[in-house]
Amino acid sequence: MTMTELTRSTFLDIDPATGETIAEIPIADANEVRDAVAKAQAAQASWGAATFDARAAALRAAIENVRTRSEELAELVTREMGKPIGDARREVAGCVDGANEALAEIGRALETEVIQEDGNETRVERHPLGVVAAITPWNFPVLMPIELFLPALGAGNAVVFKPSEHVPLTGKALAGCFADALPAGVFMTVLGAGATGADLVAADVDMIGFVGSRATGKRIMESASGGLKRLVLELGGKDPLIVFDDADLAAAADCVVTHALRNTGQVCCSVERVFVADSVAAEFEGLVLERAKQWSHGNGFTDGVRMGPMVSGEQRAKVEAQVADAVACGARLLMGGQTPAGEGYFYPATVLADAPDRAALSRDETFGPVIALNRFGGDEGEAVRLANDTPYGLGANVYTRDLERGRRVARSIRSGQVGVNRYLAATSKAPWVGARQSGFGYLGGIDGARQFTVPKSISYPI
Ligand code: ADP
Repeated sequence: MTMTELTRSTFLDIDPATGETIAEIPIADANEVRDAVAKAQAAQASWGAATFDARAAALRAAIENVRTRSEELAELVTREMGKPIGDARREVAGCVDGANEALAEIGRALETEVIQEDGNETRVERHPLGVVAAITPWNFPVLMPIELFLPALGAGNAVVFKPSEHVPLTGKALAGCFADALPAGVFMTVLGAGATGADLVAADVDMIGFVGSRATGKRIMESASGGLKRLVLELGGKDPLIVFDDADLAAAADCVVTHALRNTGQVCCSVERVFVADSVAAEFEGLVLERAKQWSHGNGFTDGVRMGPMVSGEQRAKVEAQVADAVACGARLLMGGQTPAGEGYFYPATVLADAPDRAALSRDETFGPVIALNRFGGDEGEAVRLANDTPYGLGANVYTRDLERGRRVARSIRSGQVGVNRYLAATSKAPWVGARQSGFGYLGGIDGARQFTVPKSISYPI
């Protein structure tokens, strides 16, 4: 037996719908993490020197592997983190369908810029950084990694991937799709939990692409500061949705319910705080309740289920505590709020109204299927003040029939993306931005792709 085997430990991969163990997974220790990074470093030079077209062809082959294995991937997603199988299938298909356009956008981001000035020519080239650590969460276990892989690899970096400990088999299958299509060493994977992620951040990587919680993002930033490693951090949010008195209330209620409850509320850009003008608040409450009642929960493999379980008992306990605290602080519980008996980490669609500011529900990210309705006087300035009363700045949504007012309010809310009379982010060509404490750096679009590069200018007289 080698030393590695002697010191190796494992973690359990749990089915959140049943609480049963799916697999026992060996944890990559610090030595294995360092080995993976060294292999990636060795492979990166020739990958980085290849043309973008050659790299894009290899990445299209990786995406073709994802397409071929899409049903296996979707089933693993549902098994490991619980989302309804239809949602898991759509997640995988969305990645496959969007890949060509994403690669075209990355190609444009990497184009050399030529500047001629005062008898000199300067070429601004986009070079890879080296090895990128891709550390991802469990809520979109196929989409989030691919959003890091394509720009990182497309720009000529090698990748060392650490999927979330809640979705190790999904991570392994997805990693296989990429590793099989790329030159040996360009794509490496390490499995483990937070400690393995921390080892990877501390290893000799050049950049960390991270999607996860704000708390972990801060730890990563601290650790990365030693080597001044480049960072893209996509973190949490406490997104507001504002309903003015002239809004299309049915459309706003649809948006609130869908985007507070989808993925059992476990989405960084969930609608977490709803501010409704006083004069329409009672009517809006009714519209929300009517819609929320249609969101049944159950095993994600069962037909018709709209919400799977929460990912873990720990995540559910956080939501239970926030709901109990909100009610203790005086919030009205309008629906749900009772943890069902029996196996699995289920939690029902829950609607609360008028939680005071001091309640944790009003301040901390919930990451669960909870709709928090609040009233405001109806004034624009007040709406903006309430929306901005958070350290986060991910998304926001505004409903009003006055488009000018909608755009004015959107500009005043300090967040990366705002939807006016629709849910935010109508295009994948815009960068995805966590403003304020919701992130650091960007993903997606030309701005996002360029984060995985360093510009280099070469000048000569002409
Ligand atoms: P969540 O609570 O939503 O799972 P986390 O931020 O804890 O979000 O986890 C996101 C990813 O970050 C996971 O892959 C996790 O293993 C990893 N991770 C957790 N702690 C650390 C850390 N200190 N350094 C690096 N990665 C970490």
